[in-house]
Amino acid sequence: MLISSVLRTLPDVELRWDEPLARHTTFRVGGPVRCLARPRSEKALAVLLAEVREKGLPLLALGGGSNILAPDGPLDAVALQLNLSCTGLFQENGGEDGGISLYAGAGVGLQEVVRHCVGAELEGIEFLAGIPGTVGGALVMNAGTDGGTISDALLSIDMIDPAGTARRIARQELSPAYRSMGLGEGGIVLGCRLGLAKGSGEVLKARVERVLDRRRKTQPLGYPCAGSVFKNPPGQFAGELIEKAGLKGLRIGDAEISRKHANWIINRGKAKSGDILALMGKVEKEVFGTFGVRLEPEIRIL
Ligand SMILES: Cc1cc2nc3c(=O)[nH]c(=O)nc-3n(C[C@H](O)[C@H](O)[C@H](O)COP(=O)(O)OP(=O)(O)OC[C@H]3O[C@@H](n4cnc5c(N)ncnc54)[C@H](O)[C@@H]3O)c2cc1C
Repeated sequence: MLISSVLRTLPDVELRWDEPLARHTTFRVGGPVRCLARPRSEKALAVLLAEVREKGLPLLALGGGSNILAPDGPLDAVALQLNLSCTGLFQENGGEDGGISLYAGAGVGLQEVVRHCVGAELEGIEFLAGIPGTVGGALVMNAGTDGGTISDALLSIDMIDPAGTARRIARQELSPAYRSMGLGEGGIVLGCRLGLAKGSGEVLKARVERVLDRRRKTQPLGYPCAGSVFKNPPGQFAGELIEKAGLKGLRIGDAEISRKHANWIINRGKAKSGDILALMGKVEKEVFGTFGVRLEPEIRIL
């Protein structure tokens, strides 16, 4: 079934045809996706998902594209963005144990949530400062740092499961792990409730600033990239292994292993997805050859 004939008839959805994914990924690489769809309401989203499921169209949930490596060639799929539909960000009464519950829609920028919390003096997610992308992406990836992960503050997730059923999943039903919330494939996250506490605005501001300052000192933030490329193997740091294997600064095309942080690959301008993949392959081979450790990608390769 042709994607265009199915999607053109849907109400209340912004559609872009053959949209370059390079515009929607922080690596700034990726060829055209057949359709980028942005439903303008949760109802329009539900209709779109039902149609996509019924017709068996390939679907790709796209948040901020900050953890994705898209292919150079065309992708015959529907890329779904929730930035016009799942945009709620509000406090709810009656959080657990007298705490505060904040609802955040999947399409909201994670840093918008962090800023909101500082402004509203809500404590509990300062360690997420500086992580790009959306709430949806952060939930799927269980984004975090050594200070904690988003699952630490989670009360529940709202999603549409692969069968099309709307579900609320309580934190206790989830098994979050390193860079995974364990949600399985094929579902669409709509939003979450975060359990927060009342804090001091000044203290929160200082904490966030400390986190951002550390990022500026240790990460090559001026270049298109996707953050850490490989997961840290148990008890080890991928960056340290890559650095000790002598790979800092190694370059294929315009893709380069950052000299500032060896687990980051930066795009120095015109890198292709293929360059980044080739560099990743080289890193995996060299690290395995030197230390016998198999590195696993943290980024999602489409
Ligand atoms: C400069 C920089 C710094 C970074 N630092 C960190 C860090 O400190 N810690 C960390 O954990 N990560 C970090 N990252 C990686 C990345 O920002 C996180 O993984 C982020 O949470 C991804 O969010 P996103 O919205 O961009 O998701 P995307 O990259 O768009 O998607 C990631 C995955 O989630 C899926 N997805 C997205 N939204 C939905 C949805 N609504 N429903 C279902 N599936 C969905 C996608 O299909 C994909 O599989 C960094 C990246 C960059 C560029």
